[in-house]
Amino acid sequence: MDVRETEEELMVHSYQRFGLVISRGSGDRLYDPSGKEYVDLMSGYGVAILGHGNRGVLEALERQFMEMDIAHASLYTPARAQFLREFSSILPWKSSMTYLGNSGTEAVEAAMKVAFKYTKRRKFIAMERSYHGKTMGSVSLTHSQKYRKSFSGLLYPEVTFVPFGDAEALRRVPDLDSYAAVFVEPVQGEGGVNIPPGEYLKEVREVCDDNGILMVTDEVQSGMGRTGKWWAHQHFGIVPDILTAGKGIGGGIPMSATSGRKEFMEVLEVGEQSSTTGGNPLACAAGTEVIRQLKGGLLERVDSIGRVLRDSLTETVGDHRLVKEVRGMGLMNAVELRIRFLPVLMSMIDGGAIPLYSGINTIRLLPPYVITRESVEIAASAMEGALERQVASAREGGA
Ligand SMILES: *Cc1c(COP(=O)(O)O)cnc(C)c1O
Repeated sequence: MDVRETEEELMVHSYQRFGLVISRGSGDRLYDPSGKEYVDLMSGYGVAILGHGNRGVLEALERQFMEMDIAHASLYTPARAQFLREFSSILPWKSSMTYLGNSGTEAVEAAMKVAFKYTKRRKFIAMERSYHGKTMGSVSLTHSQKYRKSFSGLLYPEVTFVPFGDAEALRRVPDLDSYAAVFVEPVQGEGGVNIPPGEYLKEVREVCDDNGILMVTDEVQSGMGRTGKWWAHQHFGIVPDILTAGKGIGGGIPMSATSGRKEFMEVLEVGEQSSTTGGNPLACAAGTEVIRQLKGGLLERVDSIGRVLRDSLTETVGDHRLVKEVRGMGLMNAVELRIRFLPVLMSMIDGGAIPLYSGINTIRLLPPYVITRESVEIAASAMEGALERQVASAREGGA
């Protein structure tokens, strides 16, 4: 069976494909069917935080599967209780409650419901260049026209977008006290690994406090240690009212969480939010193992190896004339180019590293937290080689 042809025939064409087949993964490496090896700088869009084939997750899943594989949340079950206890220990509130779902977009939808019901207000503020998911509520909070334009009549209209990082623009929004929530990614992911000015989130917090608006930090990408702290908002000295988590939270098993101060989260009554597989024992067991490994030293590693990666990129390509900026926090990093990302991304893949992208001219790197120094070097030289090939082909094209 030709994998690529079959997927092209039978799967919807709504994904940007990178053109290659990956059939095996181990640690921070991926392999195609011929055995060609790649450094994984995408980790399944930030999911494989513990790397591929993690023993601890495998053992947790196996144990859980034999013990109690499926239990809907109408039944209490130890795996869920244990996850909730562990998860609450890494949340920024003394007294919190959590809704468990399966994907990031669901987590955002649940946050919208809580804010709507708690405040009895129906309008939301979101940021330019934001990304919150693709179901109707979350895509309504997502800024990019690319994701919205075909569905304008379906989207929730009561969303005001303000420029990310500009507190004055937020203050100028008319009738602030008619808004239920501000949704903000503390570090924007899809939008290009955008780090806000130092005081920005404090100012957002202040506007929310002054107007009775709930502050929701969407940490689906930036959370679970990705920036070197449990939550990216912790770098900015604020505490949100609600936060969303997803991607790597379940060690590769689909899982997400919407958490907040108890007083907000407890507005949800029986039937108002649920999911058949949300909070299932397998996801919970894997999630507990993820937290255990992060607490066991992996979280600190994100900060140190993230610096190594950024230094290495800055050294090899920081001064390159096709590079505008190298930036990032922990293992959430980007190289903004002066040209379109696609040929550079494809050329990096040829050079043995698979990165992600943002917008039209940014290469994004979200490697597993177990990425080695050796892989960092391969990644940086794949980037350098890709840029050199661009320069060479531009020269040929010009000659
Ligand atoms: C990926 C992402 C989502 C959506 O998560 P899905 O699991 O794809 O639904 C939401 N918010 C942010 C910040 C994300 O990066």
